Amino acid sequence: MDLEDTLLMMPGPVTVTPRVLRAMSKPMINHRSAEFAGIYTDCREILSSIFQTKNDIFVLSGSGTAGMEAAVGSSVGSGDKVVAIENGKFGERFKDIAAIYGEVVPVVFEWGQPVNLEVVKEKLEEGAKAITLVHNETSAGILNPAAEIGKLAKKHDALFIMDGVTSLGGDDVKVDEWGVDIAVVGSQKCLAAPPGLSVVSVSEKAFEVMKDVTKRPYYNDLLAYKKSGDKPKAETPYTPAIPLFYALQEALHIVKEEGMEARIKRHRVLSEAIRAAVAELNIEMFPQLNEYSHYSNTVSAMKAPTDVTGEDIKSDMKARGVIIAGGQERLKNKIFRIGCMGNVTGRDVLSTIQQLEIVLN
Ligand code: PLP
Repeated sequence: MDLEDTLLMMPGPVTVTPRVLRAMSKPMINHRSAEFAGIYTDCREILSSIFQTKNDIFVLSGSGTAGMEAAVGSSVGSGDKVVAIENGKFGERFKDIAAIYGEVVPVVFEWGQPVNLEVVKEKLEEGAKAITLVHNETSAGILNPAAEIGKLAKKHDALFIMDGVTSLGGDDVKVDEWGVDIAVVGSQKCLAAPPGLSVVSVSEKAFEVMKDVTKRPYYNDLLAYKKSGDKPKAETPYTPAIPLFYALQEALHIVKEEGMEARIKRHRVLSEAIRAAVAELNIEMFPQLNEYSHYSNTVSAMKAPTDVTGEDIKSDMKARGVIIAGGQERLKNKIFRIGCMGNVTGRDVLSTIQQLEIVLN
């Protein structure tokens, strides 16, 4: 496979521009220095506007899952009830993490089915310390009702922990307006940086809750991140992945130059184009929607036609130089997914559709 001539259209990692790749090759610096503090502070400022929040922001060395575990592990202790909503693989992951740190109250829907808010409400009424939701469920291509879950969490005084791993930076995410206490994004998705970092925003309420949790994770303790982040020369508790911070800073400047409004619009328009094109090819979308759940604007999940599997489509596309994704676990072979994250262009989408049409005929 020619890595230089491959179109990466999977739901992360995404193509990283040469500008970002070059930034990674700068010399190492002292991570407890004004130079590092400058980079970290710059990243945090731009991230605040992407997250639409005044909450504290931390950058963790570790992929999106590290951020998910930091969020749950820092704020949930033994015996604490966590309502964990699942309608795909990453909701299941939150549920599994919650089961390690607290007492999980699973609210499980079939993967790709919309979240039933009535069921969530009933579970919250029984009392819970926290609720977890995956905003953009990448495994099923469905955008879950974060604003509505935020309202329910507030009403029942539960911490709202949200995985925005594949929505932040590509779709509209209103952390403060929706009342998200902890939100998480991964560097390799819509921010278009390399994999290896996660970013977490934390509300004052969440910090208060964390103080009472005695067994927080050691490496991914968000209170430790706060202590280091609050220093006059902001830093991280342990040695950060410095080359990835260089890359993230550059990727965030690209986001800033485009502007979030334009960036969200581009993701929406291109995802709509994918949906329109596959409909013309008689391919059905996979997720079932309701008035609160929508198609994802960063990854499209489609049912594989009866005469071919999702894995066949994925490998035929790869042979034609386009990397897309199949289905994960129980969805393997049943679906295929096209990512539309980061700095994807109309030309990328058109090339993908062109190859898909050939593969399917
Ligand atoms: N959450 C969602 C919605 C994801 O799509 C992913 C990865 O695809 C993750 C969490 C896990 O992120 P990572 O693989 O970076 O640990």
